[in-house]
Amino acid sequence: MEYPDLSPYEYYEFPLPMRNVGWLGPSFTPRPPAPDVDPRPLRAASRARSNVMLGWHDCPWCPGTTAPHDGNGEYHYYAHDGEVYAAPVMLLHYVEVHGYRPPEQFLQALRVPGELPWDDRADDLPELVRWGFDLQRTIDGANP
Ligand SMILES: [Zn+2]
Repeated sequence: MEYPDLSPYEYYEFPLPMRNVGWLGPSFTPRPPAPDVDPRPLRAASRARSNVMLGWHDCPWCPGTTAPHDGNGEYHYYAHDGEVYAAPVMLLHYVEVHGYRPPEQFLQALRVPGELPWDDRADDLPELVRWGFDLQRTIDGANP
């Protein structure tokens, strides 16, 4: 599934608005990795896998189906400025092997030092709602 970088995320229901990063498809042309893109902040921020599905996505630019990586799920990045970015778990592979360059806005968000002001606990909300958790009822119960 290909989505333009920074377009609104619509692949799966999520309680917060997010922007797409790295959802590559036929319009992407692989190239050597960009020497000015440091993958370390991206790797450090790619902590918790979200939206894991039953299927797998093989890299369309690696030959064969036995590539040493898996393509199941997403990483969500909660930036200090309030933006939330959603990227496929293949993002690191795309950057390090196929020369994908994420949008500068996203790279800058990763360079901000320190822990993010709010973490990926929001990722638990869709799962809780899916399993019948009634958020409003819980809020009302806590605030009679
Ligand atoms: Zn590949």
